[in-house]
Amino acid sequence: ANHTILISKDGRKIPVMDTGAPIYDIDGTVAGVVIAFQDETEKRTQRNLLKASEHRLRSTLDNMMEGCQILGYDYRYLYLNKSAVEQSRLPEKYLLGKTILECYPGVEKTEMFAQLKLCMEKRSPQKMENEFTYPDESKEWFTLSFEPVPEGVFILSQNITQHKKAQEEIRKLSRAIEQSPVSVLITNPSGNIEYVNDRFCEMSGYTREEVIGKNPRILKSGYQDNVFYKDLWDTIRSGKEWRGEIQNKKKEGTIYWESIIISPILNDKKELTHFVSVQEDITERKAYQQSLNIFRTLIDQSNDAIELIDPETGRVLDCNEKAFNELGYTRDEYLELKVFDYDVNLDQDKFFKTIESLKTKGSLIFESALEHKNGQYLPVEVNIKYIKLNRDYVVAIIRDITQRKQSEEKLKFSEEKYRNLVDNALVGVYESNLEGEFTFVNKILLDTLGLNTPEDLKNNKIVQLYAKSSDRNEFINSLKENGFVTNYEIDFNIKGKGIIHTLLSARLKGNKITGMILDVTKKKDAENAMREAKEKAEEMNRLKDSFLANMSHELRTPLIGILGYAELLEQELKDENLINMVNVIRSSGKRLNKTLNNILDISKIESEVYHLNLEKKNLIDPLTEQIKLFTPVAEEKNIKINFSYPETSLESQIDELLFVSIIDNILSNAIKYTVEGKIDVMAKKENNMAVIEFMDTGIGIAEKSLELIFEPFRQVSEGYSREYEGTGLGLSLVNKCTVLMGGTIAVKSEVGKGTTFTLKLPCIEIANDDKTKITGS
Ligand code: ADP
Repeated sequence: ANHTILISKDGRKIPVMDTGAPIYDIDGTVAGVVIAFQDETEKRTQRNLLKASEHRLRSTLDNMMEGCQILGYDYRYLYLNKSAVEQSRLPEKYLLGKTILECYPGVEKTEMFAQLKLCMEKRSPQKMENEFTYPDESKEWFTLSFEPVPEGVFILSQNITQHKKAQEEIRKLSRAIEQSPVSVLITNPSGNIEYVNDRFCEMSGYTREEVIGKNPRILKSGYQDNVFYKDLWDTIRSGKEWRGEIQNKKKEGTIYWESIIISPILNDKKELTHFVSVQEDITERKAYQQSLNIFRTLIDQSNDAIELIDPETGRVLDCNEKAFNELGYTRDEYLELKVFDYDVNLDQDKFFKTIESLKTKGSLIFESALEHKNGQYLPVEVNIKYIKLNRDYVVAIIRDITQRKQSEEKLKFSEEKYRNLVDNALVGVYESNLEGEFTFVNKILLDTLGLNTPEDLKNNKIVQLYAKSSDRNEFINSLKENGFVTNYEIDFNIKGKGIIHTLLSARLKGNKITGMILDVTKKKDAENAMREAKEKAEEMNRLKDSFLANMSHELRTPLIGILGYAELLEQELKDENLINMVNVIRSSGKRLNKTLNNILDISKIESEVYHLNLEKKNLIDPLTEQIKLFTPVAEEKNIKINFSYPETSLESQIDELLFVSIIDNILSNAIKYTVEGKIDVMAKKENNMAVIEFMDTGIGIAEKSLELIFEPFRQVSEGYSREYEGTGLGLSLVNKCTVLMGGTIAVKSEVGKGTTFTLKLPCIEIANDDKTKITGS
C-alpha cells in the first residue's frame, strides 16, 4: 500500500492510501490492474492530533520532578526524563539504547531488579522503597513504581533521601524521649496530658491510658500549697520556664520528690501549643542530702576536731567547729591556715614526708601539740588517714589529750609514790606466780627471806622456803578456792636464821599472787611467854581458891570456939579485971571474924564462885535494922545516927546478904572515922534509882586519896604510922557488891568536915534471864 496525495478537480489535496492488484486472464497473463484509493483525510487529522498530544505529554514527562523512564523488554533504556537522568548520575546519551545491566553492573542481584523483572514478565504493577547504591558506593533512597507499558516498563522514581533523613531524625528524638531515664510529660495549653514516656509511668505508677487527657494535679501529694502551684502556672503561662522541686504521690500512695523543669512550647507564630515537663526522681538524692546533713551535724558535734587537709599544700579544706574553736580561730581564719602553721612538731618538709609515709601506710596515729591562737600549746593525739575521692584528701581526727597527759603524770607520780611505799613498807610485800616464782619482793621481805638482792629471787622458789612443804599446797589450794587468804600462819626456814613465824595474806588473780608477809617471830615468842605466865597465874588462883576454902573452915571453926567460950566466960566471971580481959578476947575475936568474913567474901566474889540471890525488897527494912544494930556502938562514941526517908517504901532488887554487908561497912567506917558529931542516913527515890546517902562529920578524906579507897587493902593512912585499925578491904567489898547488884557507889569528902557516901541501886526490876548472869567480875 502507498500513501499518496490525489488532487481533486477543485485543487484540494486529498491524502489517500492506494492499493493495486493485477488482473489475470484465464491463461494467466496479466489482463489489467485494479487500483483502489481510500481517503485518509480523517485519519491524517487524527494522527496529527495524536502527535500533538504525545508531544505535550512528552514535555510534561520531561519536566516532571519525579524521575520517569521507560525500559524496553530487553531492559534497554528507551526513555528518561530530566529528573531520571539526574537521578541516574549518567549522561542521557550514554544511557539510551543500553541495558540497565550494562549501566549498573550487579543490579540484577538487587531486590529492585527483582521487582522490575516481576513487572516486566508478569505485566503487573509494583511499588517499593529502595535504597539505591551507586557505583561509587554512595546511596540514595527512592520510591519506585513499575508500570507495564506497551514498550516494556515505565518506572516512576522519587528521591526521598531527605524525607527519610528527617523521618530518621524524628524517630531518633522520639526514641530518646521514649527511652529517656528522666520522666517526660507533655500537656496541651490547658494542662491536659497528651504524652508521657515510659519513665513517667514507671515513676508515677500510672499507665499511659490512665493519665492521657488528665491534669497533672492527680500527682499532687498535698505537701505544697496553692500559692506554690499558682506561681508555677503563672510562670509557664507567661512563656517562661519553671524549675523547682515538687513532692508528688505515686498511684499506690508512696511519696516521692522530683526535680522538675517545665517549658512552654511555641509554634512559628509564637503561639503556645504545649507544655513540656521533664522530671527526675530525687527522693534518693534528698535522702542522701539529709544523711549528709546528719553526718555534718555529727561531725560538728564531735568532741574531736575533724579536718580535711589538702595533701598537696597542707591547707585545711574543711573542718568541724571543734577544730577552730579549740585553737581560738574563726572558721574563715582557720581555713586560711596550713597544718604546719599550728602543729608545733611540723614544718613544710616534715609534713610532706609524713604524707609520703601516710600514702604507703594508709593511716597513722601519733601524739603532737597544737598552738592555740594565744600561743599556748595543746597536747593532742592525731589520727590521719589518706583517702582518694574525686581527688586526694587527708582526714585528720585530732583529740585533746590534756587530761590524759595530766592523769598519766598523776599515775606516774602515784606509781612512784606507791612503789616507794611498798619498797619502804615495814611489812613484806611480794608478787609471785602459781609456780612459786617470785616476780617482785620489797626490801623488808628480801631481808626477812634472807636474800641480798632482787636477783637472788630468780634462784629461789617460794616452795624451798617453807618449813613444812605441805603448807604450801594447803595455802595454794585455799587461795584457789577463795581467791584470797588472810593471816595464814606459815613457818619459813631461812638460811642463817632458822625458823621464822609469819602471817601471810595473799590474793590470786589469774596466775598472779600478790601477798603480804609479816614476820611475827618476836611477837609469837612474846605471846608464848604471856600464855605461860597466864597459865601460871590461873594455876595460882586455883590454888588460892582451894586454900581459901580450906582456910575458911580452919579459921572460922576455932574462932567460933573462942567467941562462944568468951561469951560464956563473960557471964560466969565476977571479977571485974577478968571480965575486961574476956571482953578484949571477945572484941578481938569479933574483929578477927569480921576481917576474915571480908577476906573470904572478897575472894568468893573475885574467884567468881558467888551466886547472886536477887529479891525484891523494901530497902527501908534492912536499913532500919542495921542502923538499930549500930546505934549502941555509935552512942559509945557519943555519935548520933539519924535515919530519914520521905517514903516508907523504897523497893529494889537486891541480894540481902550483899546489901547488908554494904551498909555494914559504910556505917562502921562512918563511926570509926568520926570523932564527934553525927551520922545522917537518908533513903529516897531519884530517877528510878534507890539512893541512900551516908553523911558523917568525921575526919574526911583527902582529894588525892579518894580514888584509892575502893581498891582492896588501900587505906588513906598506910604503913606502920596508921592511926586507925582496919584492913582496907571494906570499901573494896562495898564497891564490888554494889556493882554486882547493878548499882553505883560514890564518895564526896572534905578533910576535917566529913564524908558522904552515896549508894545508888536500880528500882526497876531486873529481868529474870539477867539474874543468873550477874556474877562477880
Ligand atoms: P579500913 O578497914 O581501913 O576501914 P576501908 O576499905 O573500909 O578500910 O576504908 C578504906 C579507907 O578509907 C580507910 O582506911 C579510911 O582511911 C578511909 N575511910 C573510909 N570511910 C571513911 C570515913 N567515913 N571517913 C573518913 N575516912 C574513911
